[in-house]
Amino acid sequence: MFDTLIENGTVVDGTGRPRYEADLAIGGGRIAAVGRLGGAEAARRIDATGLVIAPGFIDMHSHSDTTMLSDPGGESKAYQGVTTEVTGNCGSSPFPVAADPHLAEYQRSTWPFMKPDWTWTDLDGWAERLNSSGMSLNVAPQVGQGEIRKAVGLNQNRPPSTDEMREMRRLAAEAIEQGAFSVSTGLTIVPSSFASTDELVELVEAIAQFEGAFYVTHSRWRTDDHIDAAKEAVEIGRRAGVPVQYSHMAIVDPRVHGDGARMAAVFDRARAEGLDATYDMYPYIAAGSGIGQLLPEWSMEGDRPEVVRRLKDPDTRRRIARETVEGFFGGTPIPWESYIISDTYTSANSDLIGKTVAEAAAARGDDAFKTALDLMIEEGGEVPTTVFNRDEGDVRFFMGHEAAMFGSDGYAYSPTGPLANASGDHSATHLAGKPHPRNFGTYPRVLGRYVRELGILSLEAAVRKMTGLPAQRLNLSERGRVEQGLTADLTLFDPETVTDRATFDDPMQFPEGIPHVFVAGEAIVSDGAHTGATPGRVLRRGE
Ligand SMILES: [Zn+2]
Repeated sequence: MFDTLIENGTVVDGTGRPRYEADLAIGGGRIAAVGRLGGAEAARRIDATGLVIAPGFIDMHSHSDTTMLSDPGGESKAYQGVTTEVTGNCGSSPFPVAADPHLAEYQRSTWPFMKPDWTWTDLDGWAERLNSSGMSLNVAPQVGQGEIRKAVGLNQNRPPSTDEMREMRRLAAEAIEQGAFSVSTGLTIVPSSFASTDELVELVEAIAQFEGAFYVTHSRWRTDDHIDAAKEAVEIGRRAGVPVQYSHMAIVDPRVHGDGARMAAVFDRARAEGLDATYDMYPYIAAGSGIGQLLPEWSMEGDRPEVVRRLKDPDTRRRIARETVEGFFGGTPIPWESYIISDTYTSANSDLIGKTVAEAAAARGDDAFKTALDLMIEEGGEVPTTVFNRDEGDVRFFMGHEAAMFGSDGYAYSPTGPLANASGDHSATHLAGKPHPRNFGTYPRVLGRYVRELGILSLEAAVRKMTGLPAQRLNLSERGRVEQGLTADLTLFDPETVTDRATFDDPMQFPEGIPHVFVAGEAIVSDGAHTGATPGRVLRRGE
C-alpha cells in the first residue's frame, strides 16, 4: 500500500521533456511509482485532474539562511511550490563565525535580518540548529565570501596578508567539506566588494578540488561597462577551475537597457569554450536593495554607526555626495522617483513606507539626494528600497536563454509571523513594510504571466528552470525530476489558473492555483492550506 496516490495528473518531469498523463505514488518519502497505477491502494488519494505534477521548485537564490528559525513554515515560499531554498547568496551566510568574540559580535551585528542567538560557529552547527528546530522546506547552503572575510577580521579595503589568505582558504574549504554547495560573493556589498579579481581567484581555487563545488556571484555594478561584470565572473571560474553561477542576471544601467543579448553572449562564449556557466534571475523589473549600495564603497566600511558618523561629518558627506553622483552610471541623474522606500527602522518615518525617495523629498521640501542621505542618518545607516531599474525586454530575453534558471532573491517567511510584523526599531529588512513581491510571487508569476499569458517559455522549459536545471547546478541527484526512486519533493499546480497575487502595493499575498506541495513525501501544503508539517532539512553537497 502506498502512502499517497496522486491520480490523473499531467507530469512535467523537470528535464524539459514533453508532458505526459500519469498517476504518481508516494511511499517512504520517495516517488514509488509513476504511470497508470489504476486501483492501487493508498492511505490517501488526490485527484489531480487538470493539475500538473512537477518536481518541487528549487529556489536557486534565496536569503532564508535563518528565517525558518522563527518562521518554520516558510509560507511565502511553500505556497509558491518551492521545496528547497538555496541560501548563502550574495556573500552572506551565517557561518563561518570568527573565533575572536569581538569579530563574532561584529558579524552578528551586520547580519541583515533577524538576530538569532548564534550558538554555532560553522556550517555543521548552524545545520544542526535548523534541523533540530524543524522547518517545512529544505535548505541548500552556500558559504559567503563576505562572511569569510569578516571571520578573519578583514573588513577593510585592503588585500589579505599571506596568513589571512591561508585562513580564508581554510574556512572556505572547511565549509565546502561540511556540505556547502559553493562560495558566493556580493561585490556591491562590503567587505565582499573589497576583494580584487586576483583575491577571489586565490580563494575560490581552494574549493576546486571538491566535486561539484562552484562559484556564485552577485557582481559589481560600479564598472564602466556592464559586460565587465559578467566577464569577471567567467574569468574567476576559468582561472580557479570551477563552474560559475551568476546571480540575479539583469542590466541595471539605464544607458544600456535592451543589451541583454550582448551580456548573455559572454556566457555563450564561455560555455562554448567548456566553462559550465549558468545564471539565475527573477521575473520582475524591480530589484530590492538599500540606498547604501549607491554610495562609494569606502563610505560603507564598518558597522552602521560608523556609516552614520561619516554622513554627519560635513566634509565627508560632501565627498560621499560627489562620488555617488559621479559614480552613478557615468553621471546619469539618479532616478529617485524609481526608489520606493520598502521599510523603515524607526516608527518616526513609517509613513514613508511605500513612497518614493522623490516623494519623501517633496514632502520635506528638500532635494531628493539630501533626503536620501538624511534618511540614512535617521534610519541608523541604511534604508531598504525597492528599485525599478530593469527593462521588461531584458527580463524576457534573459529568461528564455538556455543558461537561465529561476531564483527569487527572496525569503521564506510568514506574513503573520514575527519577521513580517516587526515595525519600528526592528532588525529585519526587506521582510516587513512593503517588501518586494518576489518573496510571495516569483514562481507563480513565471507560470501564469510568462508561460500562459505571454508564451515567452513553454511550460516544460519553465519547470526545468525551476527544478532540473538548479538540481544539476547543485549536483543534487535525488531531486529536481519526477522519476521513480527519487525523493518525493513535488508541486501540483493548475496551469490554467496559477497566478501570483503579490504586488508592489500589496506584496504579502499568497498565489493561487498551487493546491498541493510535498517535501520528502509529506504534504506541507494540502488543498491550498499549509499543513504545518516540518519535513525539511539541510541538504549537503554530494547528496
Ligand atoms: Zn544579491
